[in-house]
Amino acid sequence: MIEFKHVSKVYPNGTVGLDNINLTIQKGEFVVIVGLSGAGKSTLLRSINRLHDITEGEILIDGKSITAAKGQELRHIRRDIGMIFQNFNLVKRSTVVRNVLSGRVGYHSTMRTLLGLFPKEDVELAMRALERVNIREKAYERADRLSGGQQQRVSIARALAQEPKIILADEPVASLDPLTTKQVMDDLKRINQDLGITTVVNLHFVDLAREYATRIIGMRTGKVVFDGPVEAAADEI
Ligand code: ADP
Ligand code: ADP
Repeated sequence: MIEFKHVSKVYPNGTVGLDNINLTIQKGEFVVIVGLSGAGKSTLLRSINRLHDITEGEILIDGKSITAAKGQELRHIRRDIGMIFQNFNLVKRSTVVRNVLSGRVGYHSTMRTLLGLFPKEDVELAMRALERVNIREKAYERADRLSGGQQQRVSIARALAQEPKIILADEPVASLDPLTTKQVMDDLKRINQDLGITTVVNLHFVDLAREYATRIIGMRTGKVVFDGPVEAAADEI
């Protein structure tokens, strides 16, 4: 499903973000990547949907190279990948449902979506996505009126509205308190189990990773230093 072949990423200033990464993530897996700040977790995740280009190697998604993809093909691959960020990246002044519907922009190449007029089916899909993260009753609130945990659940719903095959979450709970952290991680796990969406989550703490992951990938200085089942994951990752 997701395959890294000898992937390296060197930033323009010479910093090595990824150093010869080889790994395969199967369809339906729930993988957690752990490592200290600067280990390369974010660089790895951003390479998957090509938020930036890699320097060497190749990344395949469902057997198709995202590294070489251009234009329409790249857009299609990206459409299958929902992304969740630490800081939610919502349009603050917009309503919750509009934020979720923004996951559908580009699905209908008409003027109507640009004007914010979404087909009824899309609105229903957005509502179902909000229901899945238990926040449907907030649909018509302004996004910035919600708590951090609620905003993160809206961003999960936005990813779901893409009907993705893959969800990438870059430190989704880093700015949340312990209770909210649990809710968001529970949501991600449940969605993975119910819908079979391949999920890759970056986390700072190995303890949290142990609670949720079936497989942990440990990173340090741009390299994979551990890859295996949760029980075997050492404290020092
Ligand atoms: P993590 O997500 O594990 O905290 P990152 O992937 O953000 O790690 O960073 C990996 C390394 O790449 C770090 O040394 C970081 O400083 C560096 N880095 C990240 N983004 C950039 C950038 N845009 N330009 C230069 N170096 C970067
Ligand atoms: P995180 O720890 O959540 O990965 P950072 O604070 O490391 O985030 O990075 C914030 C932003 O700065 C990101 O866009 C990242 O790519 C960029 N960045 C990180 N490290 C460097 C660096 N050494 N030089 C330039 N940009 C960097």
